[in-house]
Amino acid sequence: MKIDTLILGAGAAGLFCGARAAARGRKVLVLDHAKKPADKVRISGGGRCNFTNLHTEPKAFLSENPHFAKSALARYGPWDFCSLMAEHGLSWTEKTLGQLFCDQKSGAVIKLLLDELEQAGGELRLQTTIGEVRHTGTHFEVLTSEGAFEAESLVIATGGLSIPKMGATGFAYDLARQFGHDIIPTRPALVPLTFTGKLHEDFAAISGVSIPVEARAETGPSFVENLLFTHRGLSGPAILQISSYWHESQPVSIDLLPGADAREMLHALRADQPKATLAQAFAASFPARFADMLASQPTMPTKRLAELSNQDIDQIAQILKAWRFTPVGTEGWRTAEVTAGGINTNGLSSQTLESKHQPGLFFIGECVDVTGWLGGYNFQWAWASAAAAAEVV
Ligand SMILES: Cc1cc2nc3c(=O)[nH]c(=O)nc-3n(C[C@H](O)[C@H](O)[C@H](O)COP(=O)(O)OP(=O)(O)OC[C@H]3O[C@@H](n4cnc5c(N)ncnc54)[C@H](O)[C@@H]3O)c2cc1C
Repeated sequence: MKIDTLILGAGAAGLFCGARAAARGRKVLVLDHAKKPADKVRISGGGRCNFTNLHTEPKAFLSENPHFAKSALARYGPWDFCSLMAEHGLSWTEKTLGQLFCDQKSGAVIKLLLDELEQAGGELRLQTTIGEVRHTGTHFEVLTSEGAFEAESLVIATGGLSIPKMGATGFAYDLARQFGHDIIPTRPALVPLTFTGKLHEDFAAISGVSIPVEARAETGPSFVENLLFTHRGLSGPAILQISSYWHESQPVSIDLLPGADAREMLHALRADQPKATLAQAFAASFPARFADMLASQPTMPTKRLAELSNQDIDQIAQILKAWRFTPVGTEGWRTAEVTAGGINTNGLSSQTLESKHQPGLFFIGECVDVTGWLGGYNFQWAWASAAAAAEVV
């Protein structure tokens, strides 16, 4: 079968690119090995699809080349996708920090993508196994379980490695290597951090407790959001955000009182409640179970407030403002929301996402070394990179 534009991967990026290329009059076919399209859209945002972020700007994306995403993001922004949602009768709610969620749930976003593709004349085929891919010198030839396809343009939108149970594969990276591309080492991102020993026991014992913090890894920005204690370690948006910047054996640092002066607070508590224990003092600022756990840490003095020296107070304040410990790892691909690293952007055009090694070959979405923060940024990258490629594929 001969087509103009063959797209591998019917996720957020692949479907959107297919719809826009078909709207240009291209004969488009989208192939996927899964039973259903866009499964990650379905489970995203707790079933409500956090489809974009109003604060989209390049600093919210990790990449070896922090400038790469600028062009695509500037040409297709959050309001562009909002307009499309409105055209389809969908509405949204900003939950927090510019994060827009679909009021009609994620299934409605998938329907939008499928309707756009169909109305533009694009075709989708599921449950198709992709085999050998080659370029003959004039076109691409792709062997599949449904036969051989010939295409002028080939778009790879098969995503990253997160959640293999849902059909994630390293296909994009293998194909990129086949055509001479470098891969920035991949690692699970937006993923809970795990611990062993006493910290693991302490965290597991208060599993379910959530507190607002300012968290930071050794590199990258800090994030003021919630931290959640779990049976395995730490999760919650603050931790997921810093996990994308975290590297093995590096400590993380947690400010337990973001925006507050811990020293001043402790001096005031010592004056007001001299007989209180540290756990009782902490309970003024934290949930009781966390206050007890924090007061029992080996670095905390076991004195009543009246007995604390100014030096003790300095030491406690330092821990409250920068509690440092080292995770042993992450929960890995099983629960990671995205893949950090991926196809090196050096080998791609930032205008069109076309390969510099093989004309006609494009990589879009999560397989590229562009990883967004938590909060709708990853879908915005999927839409923007797909739109950029769709102009020329
Ligand atoms: C639990 C969870 C929640 C998330 N929530 C959000 C959110 O609310 N907001 C947000 O911005 N981001 C969210 N993300 C991230 C977001 O889902 C991804 O960044 C986005 O889906 C990437 O789009 P993509 O099209 O590049 O890849 P995918 O959506 O992963 O699509 C890739 C497609 O390729 C297919 N495929 C893979 N390998 C092959 C192969 N070998 N042959 C054929 N087909 C193949 C897959 O079946 C899939 O359909 C979430 C991720 C997870 C896991």
